[in-house]
Amino acid sequence: MGYRVLSAEFKHETNTFSRIATDEQAFRDCFYLPAAEAIAERGGQNTELAGFLDIGMKYDWQLEHVVSAGAGPSGKVTSSAFDWITDAIIAAAGSGRFDGVLLGLHGAMVTDFCDDGEGELLRRLRAVTGADIPIAITLDLHANVTAAMCELADIIVSYKTYPHVDMRDSARHAAQILQRSLTGEISPRSIRVSCPMLEEVNGGRTDVGPMIEWIRAARDWEQRDDAFAVSINGGFASADISEVGPSVVVTAEGDMSPHSEFARGIAADIWQHRHQVLNDYLEVGTAAAIAAEYCADNGPLVIADYADNPGAGAYGDATNLLQALLQAGVSKACFGPLIDGETVRQLMQHKPGDEVQINLGGKTDPAYGGLPLALQVELVSLSDGRYIGAGAMIGGLPRSFGPTATVRIGGMEILITSVAEQLLDLQQFRCFGIEPTVKSVVALKSMQHFRADFEPIAGRIIVCDSYALCSPRYERLEYHNVARPIFPLDQEFEF
Ligand SMILES: [Zn+2]
Repeated sequence: MGYRVLSAEFKHETNTFSRIATDEQAFRDCFYLPAAEAIAERGGQNTELAGFLDIGMKYDWQLEHVVSAGAGPSGKVTSSAFDWITDAIIAAAGSGRFDGVLLGLHGAMVTDFCDDGEGELLRRLRAVTGADIPIAITLDLHANVTAAMCELADIIVSYKTYPHVDMRDSARHAAQILQRSLTGEISPRSIRVSCPMLEEVNGGRTDVGPMIEWIRAARDWEQRDDAFAVSINGGFASADISEVGPSVVVTAEGDMSPHSEFARGIAADIWQHRHQVLNDYLEVGTAAAIAAEYCADNGPLVIADYADNPGAGAYGDATNLLQALLQAGVSKACFGPLIDGETVRQLMQHKPGDEVQINLGGKTDPAYGGLPLALQVELVSLSDGRYIGAGAMIGGLPRSFGPTATVRIGGMEILITSVAEQLLDLQQFRCFGIEPTVKSVVALKSMQHFRADFEPIAGRIIVCDSYALCSPRYERLEYHNVARPIFPLDQEFEF
């Protein structure tokens, strides 16, 4: 038999400005799967776990998977939720029977007692494994990579795509480097160069813009005998922590100075491009006016509500865009999701076909995205919210919006859900009776991930800023802990 390797997935992107704490239930709502269940549900899909299993199989590892846990982006992780998942990992690691560790993390977890959740997890892990066992971690491209992560993990590999479609590949990459470490062929460690910015200016988009060149340069650098992984991290701006922002991480061995120099070069280029914003963040009124005039001969107009993306920890109940579309009389349209469990519970008291007066959205914090809308709607359908993804990101993975209702008002169908989930897969409409391809206008809450599944059906895509919690207007948020100066809060300084 081959090496004994411990693995786990523990993922959270924490929006420290969110009012909604991330507790045990938030993980259960998204996914919390002990060993065998995790392998059954995630072991054959586009997940880190699947990539770990691929390499484990190749080298005949005795892979012991402890747990897979992830919650939707939201506020700080409670200490009890953090301990619940971390303790399981530490208890297994403490048995002393492992040669190496593989962790699928996000890299932007903040808890209610610590700004660096992953650093804390790794610290507790090292306390039981000692310094010598190699630890490999995978991170989301939107990781805020900390000094502690680089110090405590030997091998770091981030996703290389946004929309993220390479979870399994990234995990294979990390696991392959771990295998070489276990045999003693290489002795990797990881270094980081960060930029004084809240995030890479295009949020880490890899389909257009300068990221394409940086990722290519990273792949080239990995061809060296002494370099194993180069990760370009876009950072996650909605985190008021000292180590926020983009970074370049190199996992290499030997003399680290050429690797540092290479990373500094890319970091300098990220900084140089800080004014080159590719998205045109339209006002909701402008987006609605475009929608009202739109001719859908070449496919629907897809409008992304960037600012209210639940995938970045926004509440998903912002009403500004919906109100503008209704006011503009946009028809043959759909909108989703609007996260409002209270309204779904009200609708559950009715049956399809009923006309119901609802007070929709705007309940969590109307200062970010607009007040509740008083609407007379027709209830179309009710559901438990379960679906299975079919697109490149979550294909084959079961997910749930929680109790869900589809309603109609005029020519607009609205998907109202209970659990905050970003809209990034056509199935998230289709499973609830809404067919996006026959619409003229498809409005959804997402920043970039929707492109993986919606670009192929779209006649045109526009992005709007509804002024919700994840608006790119960062000056609206009160940052206290980020290191200053930092772009774009501070404009005039040199890096
Ligand atoms: Zn991400």
